[in-house]
Amino acid sequence: MKKSDILEIEKLFTTPKLIVIVPHKNPDGDAIGSTLALYHYLTEKGHNAKVIAPNDYPSFLKWMPGESDIVNHETHTKEANKLISEAELVFTLDFNALHRAGAMELPLTESKAIKILIDHHQQPDDYAKYVYSDVTMCSTCEMVYHFLEMLDDTKAIDAKIATCLYVGIMTDTGSFRFSSTTSTTHRVIADLIDKGAPNSDIHSHVYDNNSYNRLQLLGLSLNNLKVVHHLNTAYISLSQHELNKYNFKKGDTEGVVNYGLSIKGVKFAAIFIEHKQEGIIKISLRSKDDFDVNEFARAHFNGGGHVNAAGGRSNLNLSETIDKFVSLLPNYSKTLK
Ligand code: 5GP
Ligand code: MN
Repeated sequence: MKKSDILEIEKLFTTPKLIVIVPHKNPDGDAIGSTLALYHYLTEKGHNAKVIAPNDYPSFLKWMPGESDIVNHETHTKEANKLISEAELVFTLDFNALHRAGAMELPLTESKAIKILIDHHQQPDDYAKYVYSDVTMCSTCEMVYHFLEMLDDTKAIDAKIATCLYVGIMTDTGSFRFSSTTSTTHRVIADLIDKGAPNSDIHSHVYDNNSYNRLQLLGLSLNNLKVVHHLNTAYISLSQHELNKYNFKKGDTEGVVNYGLSIKGVKFAAIFIEHKQEGIIKISLRSKDDFDVNEFARAHFNGGGHVNAAGGRSNLNLSETIDKFVSLLPNYSKTLK
């Protein structure tokens, strides 16, 4: 972000503003963490800020400070749309295109508010006046920390803000193990602990939140795991019937795709999850090294994301989607081998 942009944003912040902060649809730890952190910061600065989420989020995030103040656009559409139309400033966090906000795309497009984008996904769309985009960043939460640094205001980070930022950095880096984790990430994390983020408690809240059904579903997922050995690829499928059997709840399949990648030698992992109601197969893709799943998701499955973590969707049925996926693999044999 240019110095002149920061000066202009500082000027905007000098008088109290009506501000709406938006995470992407199906928000994850980074989306909820970054929006809530900014919400606490702006509220403490005297602004009237609201986080509006396109839809619900997993129960393992339903303890975070300020979480109960989030307005759910899906269940409170009228109230949420009124807030969006009245907003003077709109922050969009952790996504790169307005369609990633689901049904909020239209009200956000029609909004006259000044828009500020903070995000680490590839190829951001051109809808915001101020853009802080950096694909080398491990998380939007780390970017919010750097944004506060640019505003010369990390002293405003209290325990609530530190906790929210810690959650997003921890979840988007797979607990500080993905290659996007840098020494700067660790310095930011150290400062967040100094500022009151209860690191060990946060790990427990997020990761020790399993139901018996969720573990049974994980067992089934691992049973369904297939490996294409000569192309170093692993994939898992879950049908709607299988999800129903274990009373699937939002977030239950979070992280399951990574098990494929934990097999020695595997460079590319996928999970295919049937959503009967929407009539789609939701796909999550993960990779190691130089195999670009963002490019793969964009080219074949209507999606996108990062080099090593992306997602997409398919309108074919579950077995057709898997057949399509497997038949595409030989085209990538050079990078996969
Ligand atoms: P996940 O597999 O955890 O849902 O998503 C991995 C990454 O890919 C996230 O950064 C997410 O924002 C992005 N992503 C997931 N699904 C889609 C999609 O359908 N379209 C785009 N553009 N990005 C996606
Ligand atoms: Mn993120």
